[in-house]
Amino acid sequence: MHCPFCRHPDSRVVDSRTSDDGSSIRRRRQCPSCHRRFTTVETASLSVVKRSGATEPFSREKIANGVRKACQGRPVSEDDLALLAQKVEESLRTSGSAEIDAYEIGLAILGPLRELDEVAYLRFASVYQAFDSLEDFETAISGLRAEHRASRAGEDDAPAGTASSGV
Ligand SMILES: [Zn+2]
Repeated sequence: MHCPFCRHPDSRVVDSRTSDDGSSIRRRRQCPSCHRRFTTVETASLSVVKRSGATEPFSREKIANGVRKACQGRPVSEDDLALLAQKVEESLRTSGSAEIDAYEIGLAILGPLRELDEVAYLRFASVYQAFDSLEDFETAISGLRAEHRASRAGEDDAPAGTASSGV
């Protein structure tokens, strides 16, 4: 591939290593013309299988767009949405499958969205999981309450600082 600094049409691979989980390869390259170095990352492309059976390339942009409406009026920034889309992509990639069902993407969004903003999470879940009664909301809200209790209990057990910063 061409050099991103001087656009020289060729580059030389000087090092290449596979990520710990085996899902990507990073290559360190050097330009033979300006001698600057840069890194490329190679991953399998991820496809989304839509309900119609058609496939399209996975897009973080689409994830952010899909969640943005649920976040209206909430303290959620564009950076938060970009980070959420990144987390969704990472969790889908760890499944190891190159083709993902559109439905699974909705599921993968719910976890990180709940961490980001619980109101946006309830809005998104109510559409995605087709809530059709108050009971559905009550169930989701009790789930959140139970989680709050669990995380408060967890804080009490947390270790009080690390003593292992050896000199
Ligand atoms: Zn160059």
